[in-house]
Amino acid sequence: MKITGIEAFVAEERLHTPFYFSQFGFDRRQLCLVRVTAEDGSYGWGEGYGPAKVIRAGIEFLTPLALGENPLYVEAIWNKLHLRALDYARRGVLVAAISAIDIALWDLRGKLLGQPVSTLLGGRRREQVQVYATGLYFTEAADLPARLAAEARAYAAQGFRAIKMKVGLGVETDLRHARAVRAAIGPDISLMVDANHGYSFSEALRFAERIEPLNISFFEEPVSPEDYEGYAELRRRTSIPIAGGECEYLLAGFRRLLSGRCVDIAQPDICGAGGLSEVKKIVALAAAFQTNVIPHSWGSGIAFAAGLHLVSTLDPLPGRLRLPEPLLEMDRSENALRDNLTQPAFHLRDGAVAVPTAPGLGVDVDLDYLAQRAVD
Ligand code: CA
Repeated sequence: MKITGIEAFVAEERLHTPFYFSQFGFDRRQLCLVRVTAEDGSYGWGEGYGPAKVIRAGIEFLTPLALGENPLYVEAIWNKLHLRALDYARRGVLVAAISAIDIALWDLRGKLLGQPVSTLLGGRRREQVQVYATGLYFTEAADLPARLAAEARAYAAQGFRAIKMKVGLGVETDLRHARAVRAAIGPDISLMVDANHGYSFSEALRFAERIEPLNISFFEEPVSPEDYEGYAELRRRTSIPIAGGECEYLLAGFRRLLSGRCVDIAQPDICGAGGLSEVKKIVALAAAFQTNVIPHSWGSGIAFAAGLHLVSTLDPLPGRLRLPEPLLEMDRSENALRDNLTQPAFHLRDGAVAVPTAPGLGVDVDLDYLAQRAVD
């Protein structure tokens, strides 16, 4: 069996309501998918996390190295692609291109073997994965705290038991927003905050001190991803668990984050940090540091399905009789691509989403929709 085709696609949808976070704004959503086809006509889908057109160029650069290879040799292909990219991309977008191809190969391998990806990863520990809602972005609404409170109430009404909101505009503004959201959802729903590295160390420390009474489940990307010492120092000085890793790449990147005792929760993006092959190793490395993994997820149903399969196999640490459930991020911000590009749709039940059972990732792409939204 040989790989006979690798095709990258960029799709785009404009937003009805532009939104922003501590770094930049969105007026559209774009993503890059890749389809890897084998000589018998079977295919797998993958997705890269980051600037879609740049990832597509990366996939085109890597394609000649994977064509003709055996699609079951997923990690052998990964090693070949990584070695070719290493001189230029120890971090960043070429790693996302490798990630996309790798995820497509896991999907394809699952289809060729007639097994869901969770089985290939070692076997699922649960049929449903608890998810948290990511939303509560900033908009130009006249009364932003009230708008955030209403959005948070809607997530609670949909059945989410954990919700993450954006901070990073400034300590006082962020506190006002967080208090409005906590008041709206009551004390029983987990609330997380994500600064997207918008704070200096001293701002992050002050914010952590001030927000502690709101019972925050984790504080994500408090400071620059380059400030490993700042992460570690903040973690020593607050009782709020510190999360990070969506800007980190590969096993070597997570080695630095973990050995520096920077985070309580590691958040690799499967579509960015190296694909399922590499994130499986990152999970193992994190376990050696007694650190739990909650994958970052921001994309289509391909990215989300990869997350579901991975998290279905995780054992939370430390082991004990009554274990908490591991979590996966579920982006709820406006994204028609995410909602329409893949089938079947994902449904929330009791704060969780069922792990697909079909071979591979268990999701397929609507080719007509993709063609309508494709960008050259
Ligand atoms: Ca984030």
